[in-house]
Amino acid sequence: MKQETEEQQDFVKEVTKMSDDFDRWYTDVVRKAEMADWSGVRGMMVVRPYGWAMWEAIMRAFDDMIKESGHENWAFPLLIPREYLMKEAEHVEGFAPEVAWVTKAGGGMEELEEPLAVRPTSETIIGAIIKRYIQSHRDLPKLTNQWNSVVRWEMRSRLFLRSREFWWQEGHTFHASGQEAMDEAQLILGYYRSIAEDWLAVPVLVGKKSPAETFPGAVHTLTLEGLMRDGLALQMGTSHYFGQNFARAYDISFSNRENERELCYSTSWGISTRLVGALVMAHGDDSGLIVPPRIAPTQVIVVPIFRDDEGRAKVERFISSWAGELKAAGIRHRVDWRDERPGDKYAHWELKGVPIRLNVGARDADAGNVEMVDRLTRERVSIPVAGIGQRLTKALDAFQRELFDRAQKFQRDNTYELGTLDEVVAHFRERGGFVWAGWCGDAEEEAKIKADAGGVTVRVIDEATEAAGKCLVCSKPAKFRVALAKAY
Ligand SMILES: [Zn+2]
Repeated sequence: MKQETEEQQDFVKEVTKMSDDFDRWYTDVVRKAEMADWSGVRGMMVVRPYGWAMWEAIMRAFDDMIKESGHENWAFPLLIPREYLMKEAEHVEGFAPEVAWVTKAGGGMEELEEPLAVRPTSETIIGAIIKRYIQSHRDLPKLTNQWNSVVRWEMRSRLFLRSREFWWQEGHTFHASGQEAMDEAQLILGYYRSIAEDWLAVPVLVGKKSPAETFPGAVHTLTLEGLMRDGLALQMGTSHYFGQNFARAYDISFSNRENERELCYSTSWGISTRLVGALVMAHGDDSGLIVPPRIAPTQVIVVPIFRDDEGRAKVERFISSWAGELKAAGIRHRVDWRDERPGDKYAHWELKGVPIRLNVGARDADAGNVEMVDRLTRERVSIPVAGIGQRLTKALDAFQRELFDRAQKFQRDNTYELGTLDEVVAHFRERGGFVWAGWCGDAEEEAKIKADAGGVTVRVIDEATEAAGKCLVCSKPAKFRVALAKAY
C-alpha cells in the first residue's frame, strides 16, 4: 500500500525546499519539471520528453565517442534463455534476486517449455551469440554496444535512480589479450569521466571498486562516483574487466598467432538514465533544476512582455529580427508565447533549470536591448541585440564552467581525510561527503565499516596514489587509499 502513496499521480503543487527534505525536493522537482513520472506499473517509470531530451544529449555525446574508437551498435534480444543465464556461477548468483521471468505466452497463457529471463544485463546472451563471429585473432577485437532498456526487479524505487526498468547503453567487447581488454575498460572510464565532468558538469572520483562491490563475474570493476548536494555519493557508471571468466563459461575462443585455441578476454560497461537523476541532485536548488547548457533541451528561453496587441506585435517583430542569429549560432532556444503572466513564466523556466532567460519588453525593443538573466547567479544584465548569437554562446560556455566549478568546490568542501573507524563512524553520524582513509584490503573489515558506520561503503580505491599510514580498522599498514561514503 505504501508504494501506492509514493507513486500517486497527483500534480505537485509546490516544490519542497531542499533543506527541509531532500528526498521530497528531488521527487517534486523531477515530476514538476516534467522529467519523469510513475507509470501505473509498479516500480516502472515513464520518462517524459524533458527528461528524455537530456538522456538523448548524453546518448549522442557518448555514441560519438565510442564510434570514433571503432565500436559498433547492435540489437540483441530482450529475452534470455535460462540456460544462458546459468552458465557463469557468480553472475547468476549476483543477479538471481532481481531477474523477472516470462513463463507463459499465447492466448491460452500456455506454460513455456523453458522460462525466459527479461534481460537484467546482456553479457550472457551476447557471449552466446558473439562466438559465432569469432574464429581467429583477425576477428578481434569485437567492440559491441547496444542502447536498450533492462529490467531488474527492485523492491525500492526512486525516479531515475532505481526503477524496475531503466534505459542505458551496455558495451561488450572481446579481445585477444588481457592487457588490451584492461586498456579498453580504462578507455571507456575516461569517456564516462568526460560525460560526467565535461557534459553534466559533475566532478567525479574515479578508480577501482573493492572486491565486495565488484560486478558479479568480473575480475575488477572501474567506477566513477559523484557527490550529490545532500552529501550522498552516486555511482555514475561502471566499466568491468572480466579476464577470461565469461569466455570460459560461454566458450568464446579464437586461434591465436601461434594457431592455438585461446579464450577471449572481455569487458562490459554501462551508463544509464540514472545520470539524469545525478544532474538534478548535483546542481539543483530550492527553485528547482539547474541544467548544464551542453545537456539542456532549451538553453535560452525568451519571455516576451507586453500589455496589448500593439505591444505584442512590436515585441514579436523585434524578437524575429534577431532570433535567426540564435539559430545560426546553434543555440537551442524557445520563445514562450503561452497565455500566462511573465512572473509565472519566470518561475516555470527556473523550475526547469533553463540556463539563460531573456526578458523582452516594448522598451527593450525601442532601445535594441534585451534583459539577460542567469539561472545560476540570478544576475540581470541589459545586453544589446547586436552580436547576440556570439554573446550568448560565450555566456553558455561560462555557465557550463561555473556550474562545474561550483560542484567541484562543493565536492572539495565535503571531502575529508580520517585515520580511524571511530572517527569515520562519528563523522557519518553528523554529515556526509567523501572520507579518504587507509585500508588493508580485508573483506571482513570492509563489512565491519559498513555495519558500524550505518551503510557507509568503499566507493573507490584510488589507484593513482600510493597508500600511506595505517588501516582505519586494524591499524596494520594500509594497502589502499579508499574513499568512503554513504551512497544511493
Ligand atoms: Zn585492516
